[in-house]
Amino acid sequence: MASVLILGAGYAGLRTAKLLAKHSPQLTVTVVNKNAYHYESTQLHEVAVGTREPADITFSLRQALPKNVDLIIDEVVKVDREKQQVELAHHEPLSYDYLVNSLGFESETFGIPGAEENGLPLIDIPTALAAREHLEKTLAHFNESHDPNDLRIIVCGAGFTSIEYLGDLVYHLPALINQYHLPADQIKIDCIEAMPKVLPMFSQDLADYAVHYLESHGVTFHTSTPITAINPGVVESKESSFKANTIIWTTGVKGSHVIADSGYDQKRNRVVVQNNLSVKDHPNEFVIGDVSAVPDPDTGRMYPTTGQIAIAQADVAARNIRALVAGRSLTDFKFHSLGTVCSLGPTNGVAEIFMMGHWKLKGHVVGPIKKLVNDRSVLELSDIKTMLESN
Ligand code: NAD
Repeated sequence: MASVLILGAGYAGLRTAKLLAKHSPQLTVTVVNKNAYHYESTQLHEVAVGTREPADITFSLRQALPKNVDLIIDEVVKVDREKQQVELAHHEPLSYDYLVNSLGFESETFGIPGAEENGLPLIDIPTALAAREHLEKTLAHFNESHDPNDLRIIVCGAGFTSIEYLGDLVYHLPALINQYHLPADQIKIDCIEAMPKVLPMFSQDLADYAVHYLESHGVTFHTSTPITAINPGVVESKESSFKANTIIWTTGVKGSHVIADSGYDQKRNRVVVQNNLSVKDHPNEFVIGDVSAVPDPDTGRMYPTTGQIAIAQADVAARNIRALVAGRSLTDFKFHSLGTVCSLGPTNGVAEIFMMGHWKLKGHVVGPIKKLVNDRSVLELSDIKTMLESN
């Protein structure tokens, strides 16, 4: 029986496992994942602010995976592609006939001095919880210290994660002010972005709506301000420095370090794959999700890395593994975006939807859409019971 080894149970890996188990019961499918749970990475900001608990955005892998999929909870150390073996931290190496490398993302610091030590990334449940604990402790500390920097929060970057974090932060702030008896007028929130535009993936009117919404809730934006260093309590740019005792580091992500450690030809731990998502000269190996760089066959440019694309890649990777096993020809990956949604707290947001036309939406109408997107993602990765439990 041919064996398929899937590394990582994020959007890409979990979806591939589910499809292979359903359509190819003759394959032995094994998933290796660091944690016994899957987390919805697009909702980490909610845990980091404190509007949601980890249990709301996670579900058990054993429960979500079909019974015929083996699950190993361990950390992948290295892929030995010549031996077709994967080295794990605590188990014996695993051999494979087909490999799906979907190890996901890590925080990107771009080598900026002090970013790793002094910024709070939002990349998984432990880091989101650490950011929340830090924020709550620092705000509470103001009552002892009377240090104005305890009431200052800086969000680095103005991409998706930063804006969604800010949206939940301004929504939840009144509750925190109340809880810790804080002077509301002394709270200061700054967002520092290298590029001239906030939320570059949205059209200007929607990005403007997000900016105005957040500004009207107390956020100050500093665009065209590349961060050059972070010292404890201070974010430095070429022209100014900004003080705050909470510094959220959400300036982008790179692929898993295992990619570089395994000697792949990579850039920022991402492997440029072929149009059918396999790796050049390794036809039995598929790299998908945030560890891949996938060319759009129409433009030649790389697709962005999002949960929606990771799930779409999984559909093609699973189909292509089945095709290889059956000796059929492979399908190329082509992505048709359904749209993009950016929340501004639980009930507001901006969205660009590409279904039955091109819809630009903003305001409270986006709240339910974001919820639909989240529910759809859980449904595609697990089952209706898990989806209902996560509500
Ligand atoms: P991002 O790349 O979307 O945004 C990072 C921002 O930080 C960019 O605007 C960049 O210019 C800025 N930046 C980088 N270096 C900087 C510096 N030195 N100083 C100041 N600003 C700097 O990254 P993200 O928000 O972490 O998201 C990561 C990935 O996850 C993206 O691909 C995103 O599309 C995806 N994501 C999607 C959703 C969603 O679909 N709702 C939510 C969260 C994340």
